[in-house]
Amino acid sequence: KSFAELGIIESLCEACVNLGYKFPTPVQAEAIPLAIEGRDLIGLAETGSGKTAAFALPILQALMDKPQPLFGLVLAPTRELAYQISQQFEALGSLINVRCAVLVGGMDMVPQAIQLGKKPHIVVATPGRLLDHLENTKGFSLRNLKYLVMDEADRLLDLDFGPVLDKILKVLPREGRHTYLFSATMSSKIESLQRASLHNPARVSI
Ligand code: AMP
Repeated sequence: KSFAELGIIESLCEACVNLGYKFPTPVQAEAIPLAIEGRDLIGLAETGSGKTAAFALPILQALMDKPQPLFGLVLAPTRELAYQISQQFEALGSLINVRCAVLVGGMDMVPQAIQLGKKPHIVVATPGRLLDHLENTKGFSLRNLKYLVMDEADRLLDLDFGPVLDKILKVLPREGRHTYLFSATMSSKIESLQRASLHNPARVSI
């Protein structure tokens, strides 16, 4: 199947072609139609599977339909992964001028706060730094968030981000929010995170 046959609109299909994505990967072929239907997703997928575009394309498609600032939040375990995810959002969303902000630890808060002031559509963050901004950056709130992604959730929990995730989840809206959880492995901890954050998720595994 092609990206168009999965339900992806023309301008995003064009972005895929420009990036050399000829056909969807297996995780994309499974996840994209379910995401477009509006389902929450739990994805068992490793890095290299194309999971980033599997969640970025449906989020960008929904964003084009109803553009708003602070539309999507992606939580990632490491700085490097956060930057890679943001780059893919910007590449896939280049034709629609998507704005992303990256909030990661070990960097000055002020330039990140300035990025937030520019009303990005998508925020990609490591959990500790996101919480720091939620508590300390004036005017920053995620109360209108529409999409939450927890990427490499097993690593998020291994790095002891569990308590921080709980605090973040408390300040995010539940109504009208879609949630995707991706993990390379399953465990009882992942299952309790899933119960705390996803609504009737569809399972995607490849
Ligand atoms: P990820 O698993 O999201 O880290 O993606 C792994 C790599 O595959 C990234 O460099 C992507 O740019 C690339 N990629 C994602 N989807 C496709 C696709 N459908 N065809 C070819 N390459 C892809």
